[in-house]
Amino acid sequence: MNYVSTRDTSEVPRSIPSAEAIKNGIAPDGGLYMPEVIPTLTEDDVEQLCELDYPGRAAKILSMFLCDYDRDALEADCRSAYAEERFPGGAAPLVSLGGDVYSLELWHGPTCAFKDMALQIMPRLLSRALVMTGERRLAHILVATSGDTGKAALEGYRDVNGVKITVFYPEDGVSPMQKRQMITQEGENVAVCAVRGNFDDAQTGVKRIFGDSALAARAESEGFFFSSANSINWGRLAPQIVYYISAYCDLLKENEIFPGDVVNVCVPTGNFGNIFAAYIAREMGVPIGKLICASNSNCVLTDFIESGEYDRNREFYKTMSPSMDILISSNLERLLYHLGGAGLASDMMAELAENGCYKVPYAVLEKIHEDFAGYFCSETETAETIKTTFDELGYLVDPHTAVGLHCARKYIEESGDTRKVILASTANAFKFPGDVCRSLEVEVDTDEPSALIAALAQATGEEAPANLTRTLSLPVRFDRTVEKEDMAKFVFGEI
Ligand SMILES: *Cc1c(COP(=O)(O)O)cnc(C)c1O
Repeated sequence: MNYVSTRDTSEVPRSIPSAEAIKNGIAPDGGLYMPEVIPTLTEDDVEQLCELDYPGRAAKILSMFLCDYDRDALEADCRSAYAEERFPGGAAPLVSLGGDVYSLELWHGPTCAFKDMALQIMPRLLSRALVMTGERRLAHILVATSGDTGKAALEGYRDVNGVKITVFYPEDGVSPMQKRQMITQEGENVAVCAVRGNFDDAQTGVKRIFGDSALAARAESEGFFFSSANSINWGRLAPQIVYYISAYCDLLKENEIFPGDVVNVCVPTGNFGNIFAAYIAREMGVPIGKLICASNSNCVLTDFIESGEYDRNREFYKTMSPSMDILISSNLERLLYHLGGAGLASDMMAELAENGCYKVPYAVLEKIHEDFAGYFCSETETAETIKTTFDELGYLVDPHTAVGLHCARKYIEESGDTRKVILASTANAFKFPGDVCRSLEVEVDTDEPSALIAALAQATGEEAPANLTRTLSLPVRFDRTVEKEDMAKFVFGEI
């Protein structure tokens, strides 16, 4: 099965194998890659998946999308990516929170956020893609991060042969702990740089470098090419489909549901990547009902799902869930393509680039309403959710997961829908110790990550993940900040 660009409107779109799509990251016309057809799973297939462990499920599902990859190679890659030493206690455990909500804990990996689920396997997929496509140039991965992708990508790509990685983060747009994790990154092939601006500025800057043919030619002459590790890369999305299907299997195995039962999924959303992976699982035939799209105060997606109008011309809020402080949700383009074809996707994206807004036709909005429900959660509600969840259930959630939990409950209350909800729990609370302490009404008068982590551990009786505490003792390696116009110069070592 091959991949096409969401913006290729030609009668016979150009299609490429998955290895090339993963290598390129973004299509030359600025579109995102999508599979030509979405493979399907029958009820029997799902039951067979139930018998496998997480790496086995991942290998089976990935092989349906990455048909040009050797099946045994995928199996080997999944076994090492999701090994116990990288994900102690299992890659994606499901924990009941009562009230028919289940927390799908996606943060047991090396950087304590769900990005590890994709970024531990994706470098392996890229390495194979370079060999499969006979590539001789070095791949230079450029990443714009709202906090968690950057660290997870650095950790995934560090010291991988044939690859170099540069991460840009918004100067004041990430938590102190997230920043600390990045600026202390180890590895010989890594670089990290702050950008003056917000996440959208950093993401737009990276997209501009990808789209600039003069820069591509210059890279070529210096022996490398650009590739991406953001969720615009299909190699990021495909591994994320796995855990939704795996969670469904776990519910079956635990007899929480019967074969064929429909469950809902709630995802705290920024770039629309993680929730789109759940949508693909649904399109594959897994019995998923509603996809609850949870936003923080930057509720551009909530408004879009309600009205069909996407409008990024609005105030940008810095919240305690920084990985969702996003006004341009790139992966929405994939949904538009899936619902309305390349014509719709390219028209809408052209309008977005020109006016910062677009409105989808009513027929498309109706389809969106069938599958999605959009809710948002204020800062006060986020803090309350962290506090009540800990007080009542003894369960510690990070601010992103709290946004999701609040929205899941709001959906259940408003709709009366009694189906079970799988909630994507996207980060460990210790990544955001300051805001979590304040939400729990624990007095803290410092911004120093190690003091905050100690205070949170003390107040909750929970242990901070070793990977985070280790970071605190490492020396700072990267302290540069550049203007958003100067990102390319930084990449080429001119400043
Ligand atoms: C990246 C991230 C999100 C948002 O995921 P998208 O795929 O961008 O929608 C939510 N929570 C956390 C903790 C994240 O790191």
